[in-house]
Amino acid sequence: MPDLRLPTDTIVLPDKDRFLNEENPFEAMMSRFDRAAQLLDLEPGIYKVLRHAEKEITVSIPVMMDSGEVEVFTGIRVLHNTSRGPAKGGIRFDMNVSLDEVKALAAWMTWKCAVVNIPFGGAKGGVICDPHKMSVGELERVTRRYTSGIMATLGPDSDVPAPDVNTNERVMAWLMDTYSMHKGYTVNAVTTGKPVEMGGSLGRREATGRGVMLTALQALEHLKMPVKGATVAVQGFGNVGSIGAQLLAEAGCKVIAISDRTGGWYYPKGFDVPDAMSYVKQHKTLEGYGKGDAMTNEQLLEVEVDVLVPAALENVITTKNAEQIKAKIICEGANGPTTAAADSILDAKGIFVVPDILANAGGVTVSYFEWVQNRGGYYWTEQTVNDRLREIMVNSFREVLKLSQQHKVNMRTAAYMVAISRVATVHRLRGIYA
Ligand code: NAD
Repeated sequence: MPDLRLPTDTIVLPDKDRFLNEENPFEAMMSRFDRAAQLLDLEPGIYKVLRHAEKEITVSIPVMMDSGEVEVFTGIRVLHNTSRGPAKGGIRFDMNVSLDEVKALAAWMTWKCAVVNIPFGGAKGGVICDPHKMSVGELERVTRRYTSGIMATLGPDSDVPAPDVNTNERVMAWLMDTYSMHKGYTVNAVTTGKPVEMGGSLGRREATGRGVMLTALQALEHLKMPVKGATVAVQGFGNVGSIGAQLLAEAGCKVIAISDRTGGWYYPKGFDVPDAMSYVKQHKTLEGYGKGDAMTNEQLLEVEVDVLVPAALENVITTKNAEQIKAKIICEGANGPTTAAADSILDAKGIFVVPDILANAGGVTVSYFEWVQNRGGYYWTEQTVNDRLREIMVNSFREVLKLSQQHKVNMRTAAYMVAISRVATVHRLRGIYA
């Protein structure tokens, strides 16, 4: 093959001051990207391309509030990279949305899609608003006007959103309807995470937790640790955490610690996870559950277990507590639960980390299945969805493990290396359009 390397100059690696802000998501993502790029000896041209987002859109969203007053919100959509396919990534409604954060999360999606080798690029979007203070009607008007504002980028072949923080299948239904009204016909493949009745996929709700379970079992097998009786602690008992815990328990593990925003519970005999799930369904949180001993979220992270699943927030494992973590495996259900600066502490302790871009990629994988089903107009059984998800998660884990062994790097760096080299290969093949 001809040498399609881009024009060269030198990669200037950012200085160590980057780590001063341990919790900045863009810094965290970029420091991992830089390390993997260096190990891959990535040519500077492609390095520069991948450090930039392809497109950043900011729109004003005027909305008539229920009070009769007009409020103007700000909406953002960032497409980081679409070389491998349409951009894919969620939309969040939150007061903390910022361009920097959305850019980091968009790049994260590029790596996540590439590591599991699904033909999507990375995107993310958000509206700066407090959805908890808005009526359903106001939320619908924000969603529709935001959709209309970013209409030029949206489309099954260009940019396919999904739910994220504070958005859900109802928001996706409004987005899909608004897009379809502009087109004049129904386009359900413009978004994923839709209600099943309008083209959502069976198995999507459980997909991220299922991926966490599958990758945690692979890690146990790799370390020659028995699955039966393996102890598990799960931080966060929402979609990812509770389903991950349930499926790990079904596989034979013993879930001995669980928590949510109200605190945690420790029960060394092993929780009946469906019982805890029905408690949460009834009471909204684990507060007052009363099974076993109460513990804090900080204590849960430091419990002696075989597998720790952080499945709540970012930046919970930092330089402040990494030394105290006793788990043998960390399987990252949440996005960004470990800061970049904490990675080396976990490495030194010999903790095997299944990184977020691999461990929680089950969700985007079934989003891809949803898009495929919409475009084919033919819908799969839940068993087919689960079987195909298993195949992708297990193969991806094995590919990352193999590279980590070949290069003697941890699983996170290997995952970034797999992802970056896939994206870089496509850039080399496509060249630079001039
Ligand atoms: P969720 O809202 O369903 O659940 C979040 C859980 O975390 C809740 O139990 C909540 O009480 C708990 N929590 C909140 N604040 C906490 C705190 N300070 N300490 C401890 N627990 C706290 O959300 P989810 O969909 O399960 O997502 C969890 C994480 O997984 C997020 O980082 C998300 O970005 C990531 N993720 C989710 C998906 C998905 O498909 N849902 C896919 C990939 C990654």
